[in-house]
Parts: sequence; C-alpha cells; structure tokens
Amino acid sequence: MGKLVNVAGGVVSLFLGLILWILFSVIGGIEEALGNFDPALYAAMVASFLLMILGPVLFWIILPLIGRYRRRRKAAESTALLPLRFCPNCGTELTSEGQFCSRCGVELEQFRRSRSNPSVR
Ligand SMILES: [Zn+2]
Repeated sequence: MGKLVNVAGGVVSLFLGLILWILFSVIGGIEEALGNFDPALYAAMVASFLLMILGPVLFWIILPLIGRYRRRRKAAESTALLPLRFCPNCGTELTSEGQFCSRCGVELEQFRRSRSNPSVR
C-alpha cells in the first residue's frame, strides 16, 4: 500500500465519520426533542464517531508503522546472511557462519547487520 492510499483513506474515513456523526446527532436530537429516543440511532452515532477517530488512527499511524516494521524486517533479513570473516570483538578468523564467535562467544548477528546497513539496528 502506498503512502497516498493511507493519507486518502484517513481523510475519507475522517470526513465520512464526521458527516455521519453530525447527521445522526441532528436526527437523534430531533427524535429526542420529539420524545422518541431510538437506541439504534444512538448506536449509529457512536459508530460514526468511532469511524471518525479510529479511521485516521488506523490509516495515519498504525498502517505506516506496520509498513515501516515490515521494511525493517526485510532489510534485516537481507543483510543477516552477509559473511563475516573476522570476529569484530576478538579478531579471530571465523571458519563457520555460526551465530556466535567460537572463541569469545560474542553474538555475530548484530555486526553483520550494522556493518552493511547502519540505519537498521
Ligand atoms: Zn570473538
């Protein structure tokens, strides 16, 4: 999903929720003034209010966060298997692609990642 879709989705749900909320509030107010309170109308009012609040939260905050998390994981996975010839901690030449240095036991995964892609921790 693109950034534009997220922005547009947030705007649409915000305005749709706002319009429905005003609409149901006005109808609800009229109904209440007339003396017949409708629970379904009240529920619709709450639902449209939630749409107005949760829509932008979903499109502007949650979806971009998920996208960023996925990109990070993808970047981490693509760099995880890079070869590391010497241990960055003790300098021992590494013979296998194990997760830890055979001599000092330091975790090698972090160095493989940080070396090739400094922005990914
Ligand atoms: Zn070592």
